[in-house]
Amino acid sequence: MGGTEKPYYPYSQYLKDTFGFKIYKVTLDAGFSCPNLDGKKGWGGCTFCDETGSSSRAQEKGDTITQQVLKNLERQRKRFKADRFVAYFQSRTNTYASVERLKALYDEAMASHEDIMGLAISTRPDCVDDEKLALISSYQGEGRYISVEYGLQTIHDRSLERVNRCETYKDFIRAYELTQKHKLDHCIHIILGMEGESWEDMMATADRMAELRVKGVKIHMLVAMEKTQVAKNYRKGEWEPMSQETYIQTVCDFIERLHPECVIHRVAGNGHHQHVVAPLWMQRKLAMMNEIEQEFQRRGTRQGSACRSLVVSGL
Ligand code: SF4
Repeated sequence: MGGTEKPYYPYSQYLKDTFGFKIYKVTLDAGFSCPNLDGKKGWGGCTFCDETGSSSRAQEKGDTITQQVLKNLERQRKRFKADRFVAYFQSRTNTYASVERLKALYDEAMASHEDIMGLAISTRPDCVDDEKLALISSYQGEGRYISVEYGLQTIHDRSLERVNRCETYKDFIRAYELTQKHKLDHCIHIILGMEGESWEDMMATADRMAELRVKGVKIHMLVAMEKTQVAKNYRKGEWEPMSQETYIQTVCDFIERLHPECVIHRVAGNGHHQHVVAPLWMQRKLAMMNEIEQEFQRRGTRQGSACRSLVVSGL
């Protein structure tokens, strides 16, 4: 873990440890679809996906990648007094195109502004292959920050099936091995509170992330966004979100089991707050972060305290 006083290794600290300064993400919508939305693997998407309903699509408004970078970068610069940025391909599945098309989009992002110093590419594990990861890897070097983010959510196939993910844990393992082969920085998205998952199921996901020594995780909780199946289930009384207290306890339990060097990209707060149906408390991102830290203080534990991989290896 880097020189942090937090009870976990936050992404901001990792960037400072690695580059000596903070880097801010400039979010982009390159107009990609998703095999779970266009029928290749499924229709309608994951039950929690708000990509068809609530999200505002910059690309549909006609903005090119360069235009999006310039607009969003200036916004970030003013808001955070930021001066270094990564182009973040965030919306839907950002490797779901030919290698030629991907190269054109990634090249455009890298060339769009002199303060862009890398790429973060969010995708599904079943939408990468050797060639695509070789392309992403080719941007590495010269002090750039290049990272791939995978939506895994859980290691349990029955839960993935329940949320209509249309991919499996095996797909993730294949993508993860390729990602390691290409020595790419990576972040794994996890959702706590998946329908039908027990505390033991969630902790098994944490243990597996520790065993695999994943570089980073972004922790979400299952949230009902407008126009999603989860919101319909919530309104019909078929799904209840975690309470705030349960989430705080669960996220602390989860982080205690991770390897101490795993970078924690997020512990609370999901995007698009204006479209949240439930639970509304998840919008209190800063307060939640404080409460999670206080819970660690109360317990006297921190990230890695209950990491089984450390116990097994005798570290
Ligand atoms: S994989 Fe991502 S973009 Fe595709 S349906 Fe699921 S949540 Fe939506």
